[in-house]
Parts: sequence; C-alpha cells; structure tokens
Amino acid sequence: MKDLKCGLKECIYNKGYSCCSKSIRVNDRTDCTNYTPNETKRRVQFEAASDFIPANYSVDTAVACSADCIYNESGKCNATGITVMSRNASEACCLTFVKN
Ligand code: SF4
Repeated sequence: MKDLKCGLKECIYNKGYSCCSKSIRVNDRTDCTNYTPNETKRRVQFEAASDFIPANYSVDTAVACSADCIYNESGKCNATGITVMSRNASEACCLTFVKN
C-alpha cells in the first residue's frame, strides 16, 4: 500500500505525514503497533523543520491487520489507502476501519 497517511509526525517512520515503514501491523483494536514516538523528532517539530520534508510515497508498506474490518482479507488490509491518527497520547489507530 503506497497511500498510507499518518498524522503522528513524531513517529520514527513518519515522513511528511506518510508512513515509510516497510510493513506495519494493526491489531484487533485498530491500533498501529509499529508506532514509535521519538522525543527528538517531537522537539524538532516545534521548530517546524520537518513540515517541509517532501512526502515519500515510494514505500509500499505491507499492512497486516487483525481488526474485524471490511478491508481485512485473510489478515491483510486490501484498502487502497489508510489513514492513521492518534487515539490518545500513546496510541495510534486506523481511521479507515469500517466494521465488518
Ligand atoms: S482499513 Fe481496516 S483492514 Fe485496513 S488496516 Fe485499517 S482496520 Fe485494518
């Protein structure tokens, strides 16, 4: 999946609101289990520097998922794109989830 938008810019895999991890796993609560906040990155954001890094859409991220979602096909997400946002201070969740 090349269209993996993510609002968690402090995650080590996030470049310009895109996920650049080769693979992620979404659990049955729709949490992205790869979310890895980086304190340095979080601080840099206040200086606004990372906003100007162009988005990298070249990563074809494999999305394994165990949520009961209409896009879940045998443990893999078959949506053309997903959006991940924060659920709270420490969790990231898939907003594209549609209950099966
Ligand atoms: S859209 Fe559905 S199947 Fe795809 S990652 Fe999100 S919850 Fe899982």
